[in-house]
Amino acid sequence: MSDGVQPALFIDGTWRHAADGATREVINPADGSVVAVVAEAGPADAAAAVSAARAAFPSWSATAVAERAEMCNRIADLLLRDRDEIARIETLDTGKTLRESQIDIDDVVSVFRFYARLAAVQSDRLVDVGNPAIVSRVVREPIGVCVLIAPWNYPLLQIVWKIAPALAAGCTMVAKPSEVTPLSTIALVRLAHEAGVPAGVLNLIQGSGAAVGAALVDNADVDMVSFTGGASTGASIAAAAAPHVSRVALELGGKNPHLVFADADWDSAVDAVVTGVFLHSGQVCSSGTRLIVEESIADDLVAAVVARAEKIRFGNGLDPASQTGPLVSTAHRDKVEAYVALGISEGAVLMTGGQRPTDPALAAGYFYPPTVFDRCDRGMRIVTEETFGPILTVERFTSEEQAIELGNDTTYGLAAGVRTGDTARAERVARALRHGTVWVNDFGVYTAAAEWGGFGRSGNGRELGPTGLAEYQELKHIWTNTAPGEVGWF
Ligand code: NDP
Repeated sequence: MSDGVQPALFIDGTWRHAADGATREVINPADGSVVAVVAEAGPADAAAAVSAARAAFPSWSATAVAERAEMCNRIADLLLRDRDEIARIETLDTGKTLRESQIDIDDVVSVFRFYARLAAVQSDRLVDVGNPAIVSRVVREPIGVCVLIAPWNYPLLQIVWKIAPALAAGCTMVAKPSEVTPLSTIALVRLAHEAGVPAGVLNLIQGSGAAVGAALVDNADVDMVSFTGGASTGASIAAAAAPHVSRVALELGGKNPHLVFADADWDSAVDAVVTGVFLHSGQVCSSGTRLIVEESIADDLVAAVVARAEKIRFGNGLDPASQTGPLVSTAHRDKVEAYVALGISEGAVLMTGGQRPTDPALAAGYFYPPTVFDRCDRGMRIVTEETFGPILTVERFTSEEQAIELGNDTTYGLAAGVRTGDTARAERVARALRHGTVWVNDFGVYTAAAEWGGFGRSGNGRELGPTGLAEYQELKHIWTNTAPGEVGWF
């Protein structure tokens, strides 16, 4: 194996190169440089990882819940110890700013701690069947071998939303990060090994979704697939898992409306609209990419948002002066540029952005400026399709009913925001919006203790909160007759 290649597959407790020796370069999107070269798994490696997880399941699922909770807490401690280094790796790999990477690590620490606590206090449910001789209990058991597939925009965070509850529940697993951003997951698996997670419990596979991801999903020995990524990939994963009747949890894309009423607090509304869509250059599933604003304030709000957007400093995420980084790859920038061209051809009015930056200091990276389209409507694909880039579209409403109708007029249903000074209206609109999360006078925030997931084509599962643990558990009913006698039927 050539020097400098990371043996980035972790199977049955050992770091390995790919069986066929394949490798992949990992690129820094801020300047196009090669950050690392990692092993690239093939189907044989994927099968070996699933077998290792299967072999480890009987003993790991039988460990005391306190031991599993302790393991989660130890990993959280180690993440805090190595916070700066892992944040640097995440920034090199994704392009996001160092501050964002550090916040991601703090978030994943809170997720490990939350599931450590929750697993430890879960108890069986006793059912009163009306006969004192019968003890009827519903107990929770780990579902088994899980395949965990994550996207590139929040590599560490998205994989931990899966690994932490799966570990706490007593499952064994194979994790597959995006081929574009494998590095923080490699660092995490090293820490899990150091924390004492036994061989075979947490396996790591690198490689393309189409080849190795698909091989992991199409494996009869897998009990559950938890996937975060695009809607069409999610649909193909559900189809591939169907013959095996594996449980499939899907966290998919969004096209998230941000409703602003004329009575909203002005300064916080401008701030939230700009941050909600341009953070991480819009590469956020819950990005507030559709501004839906009351007609009477629309011109002023668009002008204020454009003025703020033009001041955003984008640059290398390692530079403390940068407020946002590049897009993740050339291919992704091509996709975003194609959507901008489409928006123009559809008749949306380009208010700012829409062209690559001319600053020579940014030329080697995959940067794209904040872009705002006014005068958009529901007939435009720029309004209905997920662009996953720094693109804001603006629609206008004149009544509460119309605002709700526009907010719900999407095949997705991941997240929405409503901004108003009227608390009764805020409650009405929040209840009427068909989205998995609704923020009132806030945007983009979450907590490990509350469920996250989508309505409609945004998915069918829930991560975080108690439901995020239940995803990795089977319910078993145990009926015990303490005074057995004859039934007397025959
Ligand atoms: P993709 O759907 O392209 O990929 C997601 C993951 O699936 C990657 O690891 C990818 O591997 C893998 N994959 C691709 N094809 C297959 C397959 N046939 N079988 C198994 N695995 C496969 O999404 P992106 O990585 O482009 O991520 C962006 C998407 O993720 C957006 O739609 C975004 O909205 C969504 N997302 C949703 C979130 C939510 O909470 N609902 C959160 C974050 C993102 P590889 O990349 O190596 O090819």
